[in-house]
Amino acid sequence: MIGISNSKEAAEIITGLLAHPISHSFSPIIHNSAAEFLGINLRYYPFDVAPNKLFDAITGMKALGIKGFNVSIPHKKQATAVVDHLEEEAEITGAVNTIVNNYGVLTGYNTDVIGFSLAAEPYNEIFFGKTAMIIGAGGSASAVVYSLISKFNVQKIYIVNRTLETAHDLVKHYRAVYPEMEFCTIEFNDKTLPDALASSSILVNCTPIGMHPNTQNAPELPYESLNPAAFVFDLVYNPIITLFLKKAEAVGCKTLNGLDMLLYQAAGAFELWTGEKMPVEELRKTLPQLLDLKK
Ligand code: NAP
Repeated sequence: MIGISNSKEAAEIITGLLAHPISHSFSPIIHNSAAEFLGINLRYYPFDVAPNKLFDAITGMKALGIKGFNVSIPHKKQATAVVDHLEEEAEITGAVNTIVNNYGVLTGYNTDVIGFSLAAEPYNEIFFGKTAMIIGAGGSASAVVYSLISKFNVQKIYIVNRTLETAHDLVKHYRAVYPEMEFCTIEFNDKTLPDALASSSILVNCTPIGMHPNTQNAPELPYESLNPAAFVFDLVYNPIITLFLKKAEAVGCKTLNGLDMLLYQAAGAFELWTGEKMPVEELRKTLPQLLDLKK
């Protein structure tokens, strides 16, 4: 039997990802490997859903008794409007990456926030209470902004984005929530960028720049101005060491790729759907091989 049942043995838990495009997603292998490891009868499927079909997909989910979905590019913002309830982090970030179907009542969550927070936590002494610079102003940037303010007490955030208007919109959104926070938006070629970078204790790439197969690309920054004591985090996880991280390492910075965040955000969704903890440590050991990640 497929669908939601009180009996874990009887019902297969169906979950999946709604995104467009979807072919490069690693989420199916993460969730299916976790379910197999724990002996849980769960299957996670990728569904390529066009931007104007999200509502239809969600309606079908209710009718079919599917337990939940992750939502990714380009549905994260739109998903806030198709669920019945928003959990706090989804409401504040204005983005949903996980939906839970509780017998027809849908709740939207944002596990990117906990994903980023847990991944960055071991490095928090470097940037707690200090200044941050974020590259990008999309859905993941919003989750990172919220985490940096609410979990890491960051006092000032620079947002560098290709489209300045999108950065302004993100800042406007967060100024309404945190009027005391200091925000500054900057373009890539702005002459104030070197000083802003030098004053930042954490630098986070929240764009797909440098992602496989475009591994020769990195955000255009004056890397020579980076503070060698800063922590540099790339949300991209394929390749494992991006050009962005290589440039930061050359300056002497501590660096981290997006693999831990990917696992922790998946763990948040997995627990919401199954009530079980994802075996993150076991997955971390085997994932680079499973995913055939390039160095
Ligand atoms: P998104 O909402 O579509 O935002 C993308 C951002 O990247 C926008 O600010 C966009 O700028 C910028 N951008 C895209 N292509 C660019 C280019 N060629 N040059 C300069 N800027 C560019 O996407 P998202 O959900 O935030 O995801 C961003 C990245 O983070 C993706 O690679 C995704 O895989 C990764 N991610 C990783 C995790 C993880 O767990 N590790 C979680 C979430 C996301 P404009 O405003 O100018 O378009």
